[in-house]
Amino acid sequence: MMYDVVISGAGPAGSRCAETLARDGFKVALIERDTNWRKPCGGAVSARIMNKYYPQLRKLNPVIKNGALLFSANFQKLEYNWEGFGQDSLVVDRLEFDNLVRDVAVDAGAELFDKNLSIDFVTKNSQKIGIKTKTPSGIKEYLGKIIVIADGMSSKLAIRSGLRKHWKIENIALAKCAIIEGKTNLDEKKIYIYFRPYKGYGWVFPIDEKRVNIGCGTFEEANLKYNFNQIYDEFINSPNIKKFFSGSDYKEIWRGSYPISAKGILDKCLYKDNIMIVGDAAGFVSPISGEGIHPSIVSGQLAAETAIQALDMEEISNQTLKRYKQHPNIKKIIRNFKLKRSMVEFFYENDGKNLSTMFKLTEKDEDFRTQVINMFFFSAAPSKEFFSKIRASNV
Ligand SMILES: Cc1cc2nc3c(=O)[nH]c(=O)nc-3n(C[C@H](O)[C@H](O)[C@H](O)COP(=O)(O)OP(=O)(O)OC[C@H]3O[C@@H](n4cnc5c(N)ncnc54)[C@H](O)[C@@H]3O)c2cc1C
Repeated sequence: MMYDVVISGAGPAGSRCAETLARDGFKVALIERDTNWRKPCGGAVSARIMNKYYPQLRKLNPVIKNGALLFSANFQKLEYNWEGFGQDSLVVDRLEFDNLVRDVAVDAGAELFDKNLSIDFVTKNSQKIGIKTKTPSGIKEYLGKIIVIADGMSSKLAIRSGLRKHWKIENIALAKCAIIEGKTNLDEKKIYIYFRPYKGYGWVFPIDEKRVNIGCGTFEEANLKYNFNQIYDEFINSPNIKKFFSGSDYKEIWRGSYPISAKGILDKCLYKDNIMIVGDAAGFVSPISGEGIHPSIVSGQLAAETAIQALDMEEISNQTLKRYKQHPNIKKIIRNFKLKRSMVEFFYENDGKNLSTMFKLTEKDEDFRTQVINMFFFSAAPSKEFFSKIRASNV
């Protein structure tokens, strides 16, 4: 089976990549190990996903969120309502969302191959010319001019391609989450984020009036010091969370755990001759919030646009594919994640005390509050004075 592009992984990155190529008339194989798997994820996304990329999402009737409540480790609160500021967001159920984005790719003309586990490349004269998969009916091969690796954190192809090595435990986050169904006293139009005294945070994201996504994780060196299963149990059983679930009529309908990249984009590993790597497999996840759906979709789309240029020019070497990494929007995400990384250490200094002080300062100082809001919600870099003010108030 010969394709223009073979994509391993039909998550948000792979599906967007397949859709973009198929819309332009290219023959695309989209390989997925299991369309019934729900990716462990908080599911919080900017409403841009619906307004710009997937208007089809409207049929899931998502609840538009109008604000967030952030809590420091000692439960100091910072509330921000963004109604009218164009910052709307929503929370999706990943099983529904992933199947919707796959359907969009298939409607555009991509061929989806479910129950196909990518296990290796097909190689000829030491060139990678396709993907070999394991299926219930045996081994299959999908040949393509260009190969896109979009199979997430656990990607074996990313390692086999030579583009990157295995993740080290201190470069990732480990998180566990669940979907709880029942009546709660949460405001379904808000998202709730709880920073912890160690490197990590917990979240409570109402999906709709009946379902809540709740989760907690550790990252980097905290992965070695804490057991994330225990951290999760402590989080969901803490009085500050329990109070939302005061009735007895709720039940956990699903739970899962998964790693997330914590170091930002592996910008030296994005492409080589006839291969590109997109989404989680390449670290397209915010190092502070773990938000990766939007950047993964952007990376999938831009890799597809690069592939289209390369196929049109009949020049699929790394010289053409480097345009993917050089795209201004990829550069923007790389810069933005570098800024976020530089703030992570500061926030978690002294068992998260900087964050508590920061939230406390927002209560009395309106300018300072604006800076904090801009930093969290608009990715604006705070001034040097901002950091010294927090340190000086840390008494
Ligand atoms: C616990 C947790 C909470 C998160 N919360 C949020 C959040 O609230 N908001 C947000 O924006 N991001 C969140 N993220 C990050 C987000 O989930 C990812 O950034 C996003 O899913 C990346 O999309 P992707 O398509 O690159 O990879 P994935 O979504 O991981 O998709 C990869 C696809 O490849 C398939 N696959 C894997 N291996 C193979 C194989 N060998 N062969 C064939 N197919 C394969 C998988 O089944 C999957 O469908 C969270 C992540 C975790 C772990």
